[in-house]
Amino acid sequence: MSALSAKDLKKYHGRPSLRLVDPESLAALEQSRKIEVLSLNHFHRIRSLEPLSSLTNLRALFLTTTNGWDGTNRHLLVETFEPLVALRRLEIVQILGVVPERDRLQPLSRMPSLEKLSIGNTSFYQLEDFAGLSVALPRARGSLQPIYQMNFISRCRRCKKHALLFLAGAKQRSPRYVCPACGKKKIISHLQRWNSAGGVPQYDAPEKLGVADLMDTFGNPNAT
Ligand SMILES: [Zn+2]
Repeated sequence: MSALSAKDLKKYHGRPSLRLVDPESLAALEQSRKIEVLSLNHFHRIRSLEPLSSLTNLRALFLTTTNGWDGTNRHLLVETFEPLVALRRLEIVQILGVVPERDRLQPLSRMPSLEKLSIGNTSFYQLEDFAGLSVALPRARGSLQPIYQMNFISRCRRCKKHALLFLAGAKQRSPRYVCPACGKKKIISHLQRWNSAGGVPQYDAPEKLGVADLMDTFGNPNAT
């Protein structure tokens, strides 16, 4: 569940697309059946994603809140992600600060075309949600790691040495940015939790992983 890179998005430049910011309804989608890229931003007046199910050419979908909500844990509520299951060509999905009333991320597990997921900006989603998807979606596994490094480097304030790693789906009120040295215990228990949830890949003997191993496995070579 890493962030999307410019490279991920480049593929979709110039494709037929639609961006709706704070729409009153999704009626506009009826005239947009051919679009391949859809961005819905700050759609707080919309609860049902059902109108999306007719967009069968869709390859990339971005469901996001306004930037002003970043880091506030405020989120948009939708009924369910079930209507997305009809989108058999969808490759990339970004869900930032959007939470379903039911089914959690389970509908996505029935979308084998998915290659890349970026889900976050809320503490609603838990490690078990991502572990479940890692089993069901082999093509998207690379973006469903339990730990990753953001595109920006922030150093540990304690040791002032190592770059912090992000724990995907950490428990509420538990720290999400953790130093691979100072926060080793948190990292071990996070990986054990992933293993118990049946996530793929499984991490053998997480307690034996040193800082270099952790950075090799979860570091982001493009972080600056
Ligand atoms: Zn540290």
